[in-house]
Amino acid sequence: MKILVVNAGSSSLKYQLFDMDTNEVLAKGLCERIGIDGSVTHKRPDKPDYKANVDFPDHRAAIECVLALLTDKEKGVIASVEEISAVGHRFAHGGEKLRASAVLGADEIKYLESIVGLNPLHGPPAISGFKACKEVMPNVNHVGVFDTSYYSDMEDYAYIYPIPYELYEKHKIRRYGFHGTSHRYVAGKAAELLGNKNAKIITCHLGNGSSITATVNGKAVDTSMGFTPQDGVPMGTRSGAIDPTVVTYIQKAEGLTAEEADKVLNKEAGLYGVSGISSDCRDIREAAANGNYRAKLAMKILCHNIKKIVGSYVAEMNGVDAVVFTAGIGENDRDLRQEVCKEMSFLGIEIDEAYNQNCPRGEIADLSAKGAKVKTFVIPTNEEYMIALDTQNLTK
Ligand code: ADP
Repeated sequence: MKILVVNAGSSSLKYQLFDMDTNEVLAKGLCERIGIDGSVTHKRPDKPDYKANVDFPDHRAAIECVLALLTDKEKGVIASVEEISAVGHRFAHGGEKLRASAVLGADEIKYLESIVGLNPLHGPPAISGFKACKEVMPNVNHVGVFDTSYYSDMEDYAYIYPIPYELYEKHKIRRYGFHGTSHRYVAGKAAELLGNKNAKIITCHLGNGSSITATVNGKAVDTSMGFTPQDGVPMGTRSGAIDPTVVTYIQKAEGLTAEEADKVLNKEAGLYGVSGISSDCRDIREAAANGNYRAKLAMKILCHNIKKIVGSYVAEMNGVDAVVFTAGIGENDRDLRQEVCKEMSFLGIEIDEAYNQNCPRGEIADLSAKGAKVKTFVIPTNEEYMIALDTQNLTK
């Protein structure tokens, strides 16, 4: 069974074609600058990357280009579009109603359109991407996989904010959580490694956007991102959790509109805001190694906040069996893992620091020190595979 996974953004469309019988990615790529001019990068494991400028007035033009490339005699990997059994679409937000991955019909799309206000950046392009794919491939099932659905079983006290309850009822202001597909994938892998489906697992997805999730019995019980992906640990350019009054104070002190204050906290804060150098962890590490105070401070703030959330989730779950690091920073920044896991032995979290510094990249690694009560893993995330798997399970 071959499944196409599509992740449509406002001006981009990423794709991967999976062979689910062999668990292989046959081809993948990225259409960029949709609605501006257009370029495509198409990758096959056995050939050099193909890059070209192609006019992409809209998402439909991009998906048509993807299908042409996938079926191309030289660059392609399938003889015809008929070989694609189903398409999986990534959606950041499924609201309160789309509580699990689902085959997308008229009702689901109507609901997704009704909640774009909750998700103004990702919602509209994801819906346009889906509609374009449905037009071009009307005869196969299209499945929606929602980042938020992993959090659908959280208790009300974990997702209701202590603000007037009417604001939840009226505007659906609550914790939704994000990156759920990644957390579900790595928590599932960790449970497999532990040989315990009921394990208590803390997954740290640390990338450009970062979130931490607590999972018990395969279900998320709490997560650091909230109503939007702004909550939780500091990120590339997002502040993460701060005293909410800072927002209105900045507005008054700097004479900013609500939108401008929002921009400060979303685009000018986090690692970038503190370091003043970059939102990219590698640049900050380099500056810190050269003695830059604000770069060092940015990394310390990040580690401090990760530690705080990990500790609070151990308390919430009354213990933990495994801590997992994933995504760009979690998989690659060895010093950050060491710093976060330092002085956590009273919780049973202890890593083999030498192995942490030397373990191979891009693979699962067990960093736990000998005899540590809690396992610490690096598990490379694979959201696209999770989307393909859900799509297969719902359509086969
Ligand atoms: P996104 O949220 O955009 O998917 P990624 O998961 O790709 O982001 O993570 C991007 C982050 O990972 C960047 O801050 C980048 O600096 C960091 N990163 C990637 N490689 C390394 C590395 N070798 N050391 C430290 N950080 C790294």
